[in-house]
Amino acid sequence: MTDLARAVMERCDLLAACSEDPGRITRPFASDAMRRAHVYAHEWMRRAGMHVRRDNVGNLRGRYEGEGPSTLLLGSHLDSVRDAGRYDGPLGVLVAIAAVQRLHEANRRLPFAIEVFAFADEEGLRYGSTYLGSRALAGQFVVGDLALTDAEGITVASAIESFGGDPARIEDDRLQSVDLLGYCEVHIEQGPILEARGLPVGIVSAIAGQSRFEIVFSGEAGHAGTVPMDRRRDALTAAAEMVLAVEATATTEKGLVATVGKLEVEPGAANVIPGQAALSLDVRHADDGVRTRVAEALLARARETARRRKLSVEVRAVSSNPAVRCSPRLVNLLAQAVKDCRQQPFELTSGAGHDAVVMSSLTDVGMLFVRCKGGVSHNPAESVTTADVGVAIDVLSRFVDLLGQQ
Ligand SMILES: [Zn+2]
Repeated sequence: MTDLARAVMERCDLLAACSEDPGRITRPFASDAMRRAHVYAHEWMRRAGMHVRRDNVGNLRGRYEGEGPSTLLLGSHLDSVRDAGRYDGPLGVLVAIAAVQRLHEANRRLPFAIEVFAFADEEGLRYGSTYLGSRALAGQFVVGDLALTDAEGITVASAIESFGGDPARIEDDRLQSVDLLGYCEVHIEQGPILEARGLPVGIVSAIAGQSRFEIVFSGEAGHAGTVPMDRRRDALTAAAEMVLAVEATATTEKGLVATVGKLEVEPGAANVIPGQAALSLDVRHADDGVRTRVAEALLARARETARRRKLSVEVRAVSSNPAVRCSPRLVNLLAQAVKDCRQQPFELTSGAGHDAVVMSSLTDVGMLFVRCKGGVSHNPAESVTTADVGVAIDVLSRFVDLLGQQ
């Protein structure tokens, strides 16, 4: 049991070395680093008794046949952000492989097949468009996605081609909902709640919905020395008001998080009054009504700020993803599995998006979070313990068994 957990930890280290940046972890969609990661993952899936293939969009899929026609989907993503940690994504893939390996070593077949997915793109590092891998499965991959370009001008279509897929056949990757038993993803928590409660794992009840906007204030650039204060139309001061308003609003609403993560100032010189300021806005809540209401209030605030400061403002809606409820059936099974592993079942919501969001359009989804040190993620300091990984493997194995008994 701990041997499997240790193997998962070692495998996370091996995958961490598959990077396009020396000395740090950066593994984008359809990259050479991803190709090297696939060589490892392919072998681990094969050794766990799975039939392995790569689909057109570039997901690696390992199938462990069962006695019946239905399939349980497990997995997570193998791509990363820039200068990433080693567990966000890979841990979920490797825990799923470990659970299958345990079945294989015991020579057991379940009433259903298990398919483990190592998704091609969850973080959106290369193309800024998240979930390319799982969207292909769910039939949400649109033709426009193929034309997106990376920083070097390479389109998604040609990236897919050089990775060995056929961009014209993405539709073939699509799964049919019929005969799917559900999708269960193990992932690091990326937050501090489990650590604070002293729990190795937690069961996700819902994934927060997310709204993203780009807000651009436009005023007038001018000389920092000659334009008097009362004659200025400074775009950055308006943006600064917004940044603080976003923070103030988020702290008064329970369960809400809102962030300005990007601020671009034009022309961006020390002696020039900013003529334009563009900021991002990200609003998340597990209740879509709350999220929409708050987002609208913040955008109204941006318009009011622009009016008062005699600026113009443009708002662009970048994306809007509704909250996803995890299936009560899978949540209950995970809770039973956690209890059977002599741990305390505990439910929490996920503030981060996951492939499970997209998979929820296909089938029931469930997620198991693993405690991570300090709640740190998207950072090389990401850390989990071997003991907690052992619990996650046990819980996922038990969950699979319970599903087989239904
Ligand atoms: Zn992730």
